Amino acid sequence: MKSFITTLFFAILTSPPAFSLEWDTRIPATFKIFMENTLHELYTMEGRQNSPLHQAIFQGPSHGKTYQKWLNKRIQKISLSTNCNVAAHIDSEGPPGILYISKCSNLNPTSDDKAYWLSIFIHEARHLESHQQFWKHSVCTDDLGSIMACDHSPLGAFGAEKVWAKNLLMSCHNCSPEILTQLEKIYEDQTVWNKLMPPAQSQLRSDAK
Ligand SMILES: [Zn+2]
Repeated sequence: MKSFITTLFFAILTSPPAFSLEWDTRIPATFKIFMENTLHELYTMEGRQNSPLHQAIFQGPSHGKTYQKWLNKRIQKISLSTNCNVAAHIDSEGPPGILYISKCSNLNPTSDDKAYWLSIFIHEARHLESHQQFWKHSVCTDDLGSIMACDHSPLGAFGAEKVWAKNLLMSCHNCSPEILTQLEKIYEDQTVWNKLMPPAQSQLRSDAK
């Protein structure tokens, strides 16, 4: 009996992580497997950086457990979207907790795309906060006059991506060099910085150094 309990105990310890996410059956299995593995990698990252903006957004240090709790609280289901203008989005008027992945996204990602997709999950999870008016973007224009989505606050969805990447970069001690390089790219990505208003940019730049 004792050995049965021991076996059971180890079986539970070594079984694959339980995911509370519900997946639309139209999402290709390749993408689902990629994303579950990538989320599992995130949830096992160990860091302890917690800048003021990180604490304000994630309510905890840059540790996998913080992100697991935070994402699970916001995203319940992954659905497929026919909107080809964005990689992913939410529907503030639809049922809560659904992240829509565009059918036009590359749903056959490689290991080079891990931090990219995680940043999308972080971004959209921030938008799923209904009590904060979904952190809706403001309208702004770029140098050429094209209309863009921008944030005045460093705490919005764009800021959340930067704060997440930066705090992990600063203290993750078990992250692979591969994922650290990808996180660096997410942090440096100028197209996202351009969508943050100058005051938000400087708050983000001085938040974690
Ligand atoms: Zn957004």
